[in-house]
Amino acid sequence: MLANIIVKPGKIELRDTKNPSPCSGEILVQIRVALTCGTDLKAFKRGHPMIPMPGVFGHEFSGIVAKTGTGVRRFKVGDEIMAVHTAPCLSCRYCQKKIYNLCEKIMDTKVLGAFAEYILLPPHIVKQNVFHKPKNLTFEEAAFLEPLSCVVHGMESLDIKKGDYALVIGAGPIGLLHLLLLKNIGAHVAMVDKHNNKLSMAKKLGADFVFNPGKIEQKIIPPCPPLVNGGWGDFIGFDYIFECTGMPEVWEKSVNYVRKGGTVTLFGGCKSDTTVTYDTGRLHYDEITLKGTFHYTPSDVTKAYKLLCEGRLGVSRLISGSYSLKKTQKAFDRLAKGKGIKYAIMP
Ligand SMILES: [Zn+2]
Ligand SMILES: [Zn+2]
Repeated sequence: MLANIIVKPGKIELRDTKNPSPCSGEILVQIRVALTCGTDLKAFKRGHPMIPMPGVFGHEFSGIVAKTGTGVRRFKVGDEIMAVHTAPCLSCRYCQKKIYNLCEKIMDTKVLGAFAEYILLPPHIVKQNVFHKPKNLTFEEAAFLEPLSCVVHGMESLDIKKGDYALVIGAGPIGLLHLLLLKNIGAHVAMVDKHNNKLSMAKKLGADFVFNPGKIEQKIIPPCPPLVNGGWGDFIGFDYIFECTGMPEVWEKSVNYVRKGGTVTLFGGCKSDTTVTYDTGRLHYDEITLKGTFHYTPSDVTKAYKLLCEGRLGVSRLISGSYSLKKTQKAFDRLAKGKGIKYAIMP
């Protein structure tokens, strides 16, 4: 089968590789759509500790069951499916505590290689995190299950309500997915990004206010007078901040925009070995919660699946175009230049 190999940062090659065959409990999925993701882009630009090179990559996908191993009952050949590329082991110390997203084996047992004709899913994923794609969803929409699960996980413990105020920092694919979920809940959403084209996309997708970072530094200092003048009469600072850039300096500044008692969710992963500094008085007397978020549990995936099936989010609007397997390099070259949000790779 044909599979894209990321040889080193900046270089992707389509190679003929061994045809995988499912063993007991496994399924072989013929990929219909695989989506580019921020993690893939980081790997393409500078390498990534979780994406070894040279190696296959791509982890957001949907497709059709091509072969099943013995003992697989829930799926049969020809079924249209959507899935994520990990599942917890259910036996480690974190799994015993039901903190499944932090399972000690979740990253070691992940599956990469969605930018290919086929992907082989192991039994622990087949059992927990593969779903039948309903007919009302396109394969493009179904491929959003993985990134949406991450975003669902970050919001799961927050109890966000209609009318709450949220600021999303970074209008890349993950920031925009935050926007779609927040608008679905009925929150007021402001978005910040340094690229005006991404901000106009955010506006199109329903953001109430958009700002360029130059402006946010000058103007949005709590309690954010421009927003009050803009019509948010009861605004006292954001209830929630979602940091989606993965830059330490932005992690630090994000705390400036949250109201007393509010929560800053740190979604964007920074380069390893970076550190941040916060004003202790602000965290202590204003009771600010700083919350890291990583990956997802099977219940987050189920929730994301249901949200997609409802069809109200309109996730396909985040797809900027599609490329054949052979042109995967082109899609990443464009992303590296800041062009487009997500691309669909279609074998
Ligand atoms: Zn991803
Ligand atoms: Zn585990």
